[in-house]
Parts: sequence; C-alpha cells; structure tokens
Amino acid sequence: MPKGQINTYACPSGHVMVTIDLDEGVTPFMKRCETCAQMAQSGFYRVDQRLTPTHEWYKPAHPERYQQMGLRQHCKAGGLVLREIGQPDETEAMPEPIPKIRHELKCLPEFFQDLKAGHKCFEVRRNDRNFQAGEELYLREWSPEGGYTEDTLLLDITYVLPGGQNGIDPEYCVMSLAWSMDMDFSDFLEEGPEHEDGFPITTFCG
Ligand SMILES: [Zn+2]
Repeated sequence: MPKGQINTYACPSGHVMVTIDLDEGVTPFMKRCETCAQMAQSGFYRVDQRLTPTHEWYKPAHPERYQQMGLRQHCKAGGLVLREIGQPDETEAMPEPIPKIRHELKCLPEFFQDLKAGHKCFEVRRNDRNFQAGEELYLREWSPEGGYTEDTLLLDITYVLPGGQNGIDPEYCVMSLAWSMDMDFSDFLEEGPEHEDGFPITTFCG
C-alpha cells in the first residue's frame, strides 16, 4: 500500500488496533491480537482514514540483523514490521551478524538435487579447505556436460568428521549440513494465495 494509509486489525472479541503504514510495503492480513492473542483480521485499508493510529508499519533499517529467518525473508520480500508509535526501529539496537566463512563449491546434479530435497544432509569432500563447523557451503549445481545451472544452495556446516579414521581417506572429510538461515528461499516457495485486492498473504508478522 502507499504510505500514510490507515488500517485496522480486529479480533473476534472486538479488540481493534489502528495502524498506519509509515513506509510503502507489504502488511499481513492477519495478526495476533495484542490483548487476547486471538487472530485479528485486517480491514484491508477500507477503514475510516481519520482514525488515530497507535501502531505503525515500517521498514526496519537492518532487517539482516533479525535472528528469525522468517522475519528476514519477510523484510526481503518487501514486508513491513510493526511497532508502537514513538518506539525506535528495533533493528538499530541489534548486533550486526558476524559474517561466516563461506566455501563456494561445485556440486553434481544427482547430489545437489538430493541436498535440495532435504534427504541428503552430508557431503564427503576433499578437505583442502580446512572445513570447520560453523562455516557455510555455497553449492552451485554443476555438471561436466552442462556447466553451471542457476541452482544454488547455502548450507551450514554443523559437524566435520576428519579423514584418517573410520575408513575415510586422510585427505577427505565428512560434513553434516543443515539449511542455512541465510538462504534465499524464494525459489522454494510457491506463490502464495492473494487477497482479491492483491495483498500477499503472509503470516510472518506479529
Ligand atoms: Zn482481542
């Protein structure tokens, strides 16, 4: 919505929150009622624009600082977050995330697709990079015939089993992997349903 629009969120018990969009962006059509925690529904901006807002939807300055992946993705997709009017941007006081060491590697399609599907969560690699838990693998799907595809995965290394034991070649290691919170999940998400007015439906907020 264009900024400056007034909206309401009303819960089944009749509690109403009046909001204003401080920035242009996307707001959810449902949020939790601050009084009774039931789900409160948006008035879809078809409300009296003279109402006095108590809360505002804004674009935080440092969305990458949110711990919750959902919030980071929400902001990346143009989503706004809510604050009581007069409160500061909550991301200002959050610490800057410490950048992780990221290893960019080719990955053959058969393994890449199993990683992407989520049922393969390890890699066996030549350990020429001194892989450590806490670092990231940035895998790019690649084949000798076709080269790189557009497909990539960002994975956290959660455990490294060095070679030279358990029958593993001393030059190799086995890594346990988990999906990184910093991955761009937009390729994975289907287009969500939209309200008739075209407001994307999101439940990340509130
Ligand atoms: Zn309520």
